[in-house]
Amino acid sequence: MSHRAEILARIEKAARAAAEVSGRAPADVTLTAVSKQQPDERIDAILAEGQRVFGENRVQEAQGRWPHRREGLELRLIGPLQSNKAREAVALFDVIETLDRPSLARALADAIQREGRAPRLYVQVNTGEEPQKAGVAPLESDAFIADLRRSYDFDIEGLMCIPPAEEPPGPHFALLRKIAERNGLTKLSMGMSGDFETAIRFGATSVRVGSALFGAR
Ligand SMILES: *Cc1c(COP(=O)(O)O)cnc(C)c1O
Repeated sequence: MSHRAEILARIEKAARAAAEVSGRAPADVTLTAVSKQQPDERIDAILAEGQRVFGENRVQEAQGRWPHRREGLELRLIGPLQSNKAREAVALFDVIETLDRPSLARALADAIQREGRAPRLYVQVNTGEEPQKAGVAPLESDAFIADLRRSYDFDIEGLMCIPPAEEPPGPHFALLRKIAERNGLTKLSMGMSGDFETAIRFGATSVRVGSALFGAR
């Protein structure tokens, strides 16, 4: 087994174990390989092992990396999206996880119509209410989700969060799940390299793992 294959197998095994201890089916958890800022050879090695879901945090970087080898892959945008990049994001990504404001919703609705292509959408919630972080505030999330459904007829797939780096993530994962449940949403994108097993125990349906899989950026 190659070095990268071993690492991928170890992460998949840990994710499976975390799903099983919480009484969930391992197949209900998707591993998103966060390829931002990684060299091509590491990405090629993971592709060769059969990994098919990748996360990027910048539209422009993803445009340089993926269009020529996009076939059969699922690409997820996990970074902040500027409204003026909405059309490019809609054209490239299968999932946009960072919908967090009405102006972006409007831009996405317009881009979806123009491109004739509709990525699956997640609402990002700023569970730690950090001023420097994107995401809708927890207390505003119900109204925001309702507005997305009413004004744009969006079929929101789930919620995404990035807990504050210096706090235990569990309460943030629990909060995201609670907001999802009361809004009838079943998909939760939460957990990164350092806490994906915890996130799975709290109900994550996709985990975004970068450095643990690819090495330091
Ligand atoms: C970079 C990034 C990740 C991956 O972080 P690691 O700690 O390297 O696993 C996950 N989610 C988001 C939103 C990111 O920007």
